[in-house]
Amino acid sequence: MQVIPDPTTIHFHLPGELSVRVHREYSEFIRELISKFPHEREGILKFYRECWRIFNALNSLELKSIEESIYLFGQFFRKPLECLTLGDHDVEWVEKRCLDGLMDFVPYYFPQNAGDVARKFIKDPQLLSFIDAECFIPSTVNALYTPMINAGMVLCDRHFGGINYPVGGVGGIAKALANGLVEKGSKILYKAYVTRIILEHGRAVGVRLSDGREFFAKTVISNATRWDTFVHTLSRFLINFCGPKITGKLIKVDDLPEEEKNFQRIYVKAPSFLSIHMGVKDTAVPPNTDCHHFILEDDWVNLEESYGSIFLSIPTVLDSSLAPEGHHILHIFTTSCIEDWKGLSRKDYEEKKELVANKIISRLENKLFPGLKSSVVLKEVGTPKTHRRFLARDNGTYGPIPRSIPKGLLGMPANTTAIDGLYCVGDSCFPGQGVIAVAFSGIMCAHRVAVDIGLEKRSPLLDAALLWLLGWLRKMA
Ligand SMILES: Cc1cc2nc3c(=O)[nH]c(=O)nc-3n(C[C@H](O)[C@H](O)[C@H](O)COP(=O)(O)OP(=O)(O)OC[C@H]3O[C@@H](n4cnc5c(N)ncnc54)[C@H](O)[C@@H]3O)c2cc1C
Repeated sequence: MQVIPDPTTIHFHLPGELSVRVHREYSEFIRELISKFPHEREGILKFYRECWRIFNALNSLELKSIEESIYLFGQFFRKPLECLTLGDHDVEWVEKRCLDGLMDFVPYYFPQNAGDVARKFIKDPQLLSFIDAECFIPSTVNALYTPMINAGMVLCDRHFGGINYPVGGVGGIAKALANGLVEKGSKILYKAYVTRIILEHGRAVGVRLSDGREFFAKTVISNATRWDTFVHTLSRFLINFCGPKITGKLIKVDDLPEEEKNFQRIYVKAPSFLSIHMGVKDTAVPPNTDCHHFILEDDWVNLEESYGSIFLSIPTVLDSSLAPEGHHILHIFTTSCIEDWKGLSRKDYEEKKELVANKIISRLENKLFPGLKSSVVLKEVGTPKTHRRFLARDNGTYGPIPRSIPKGLLGMPANTTAIDGLYCVGDSCFPGQGVIAVAFSGIMCAHRVAVDIGLEKRSPLLDAALLWLLGWLRKMA
């Protein structure tokens, strides 16, 4: 695939006129950040060094299922006693103890959040707020709520080879993946909406589509969120089609499997987004404008508020072929809750979309692009309802966010479920939201399924012990 290197992953426009570019080159980014906070030089270096430690550790592992014992005990638990006590010690102690094995750092960071780690090294409140914004972009929550493992992955991956934009648009990635699957003998059905997971004697054996077709298989993997898999996909449709007898315990919320109850106890649905896709005359966008921007104008407290901060991408600054000559494409989005859009008549809904979108465009006009409004030639607005409709996600949610300060990633379920033969993948599974994380979730699931259907070696006894241990850790979260 032909790609265009993106020189700046994101350009932050933050309160107090703080402007920070996250350059492709890590050293350039760090130099720029230190120039804004020279008194925090050491803290900045130490915090991002911790991120790299996690990224390098993960990068050095062969990534497979954390629910598979032969792999996991081999990789992570070579020194169980030492690893289990790592959490009680400070970073210097850990560094000394773990010099001979980078993997040891992964369990150490599992229960930690980025905000806590940042506070060990950084005192300046504005810089801590900047770290909040860094975490908010992938997680939609501040650093205290963002698992350190996720922060480490995202804040370093962007510099590891940099971000590259596929010529012709990001849809090219999905097309390339689909072509690869077909070449390997897979069949992909488009516009195929699963309304039911078919259970036989408590085991998932197939799916039924909205047009009535049924498909049977040894294994069913749901890429719908866990809320949709266990509340909508299973309960709603199983009640309609099978009745309570066949659907068994899954139909009532009270009878959700323990693991799902635990997931819903620890995680709530993140809000959704309001998205504006616009075509504008290129006179509105000054030359040398970066592709990606994050804007929070006046006050840090608005970071997590609905419509508080604005994300903006202008892919045509990298690939001008995406729009007619003399034009740019703007994708603008901001967090928004479905509750704001419920109960409106068609007319009120359309009017509200126009009103809210115009306010966001005015803010961009004031902050970055004078004359933006008058340069718009095309505008489409999507709301949380649009996300719900086209992605089939409950409330159009962006994914799970912790209900209260989490113990890192300890509470996240992985791929297996309490239903035999049924697995989940995607952002409501370990390790959470974002393209890197969900790709990892897919790889882990493929490995666990390969083991369960006998394509790879397995140890049922050790697996049972491991699943019990993981379940226990999740309950502790
Ligand atoms: C506006 C926006 C910007 C983002 N920007 C970034 C970014 O810059 N970097 C980054 O890493 N991440 C980004 N993300 C996050 C990232 O896109 C998600 O975390 C990721 O796509 C989640 O993947 P998923 O497979 O879990 O779910 P989804 O992407 O929602 O995929 C689930 C798929 O399953 C299908 N489906 C659901 N139910 C059914 C059913 N019953 N039958 C058949 N099919 C069904 C849906 O149609 C959908 O195609 C962004 C997200 C949004 C909304």
